[in-house]
Amino acid sequence: MFFFGIFGIQNKEKNLKEFSNIICSCGMYSRMQLVERYYYFHFFFIPLFKWGREYYIEARCCGRVFKVPRNYIKEILESDTVDLNRLIEVNTPYRKCPHCGEYVDSNYKYCPHCGRKF
Ligand SMILES: [Zn+2]
Ligand SMILES: [Zn+2]
Repeated sequence: MFFFGIFGIQNKEKNLKEFSNIICSCGMYSRMQLVERYYYFHFFFIPLFKWGREYYIEARCCGRVFKVPRNYIKEILESDTVDLNRLIEVNTPYRKCPHCGEYVDSNYKYCPHCGRKF
């Protein structure tokens, strides 16, 4: 955000729905969260317009993030399952430790917080 307080750009994340028992690409059955992200321009904290709306799936098991392509958004909003083959995996620099829930550099083999292997 720039020009703090008077006007600026912020991004916002909204949880839309949750899917359960989806097989993640890490091999675990997991809950997955569908989130909507967008930017908005505000003036005195009144949102004036928003743009850049994108949809992501976040896996609870390992913190992997998948982007939902445009042609799949409508379908995934109405469906109660997720087709991972139609999603694009996003390389996130951090992933969530499945044991303690801390965010950890995805290059690590062991979690520096709890010492357990991923
Ligand atoms: Zn996973
Ligand atoms: Zn950990």
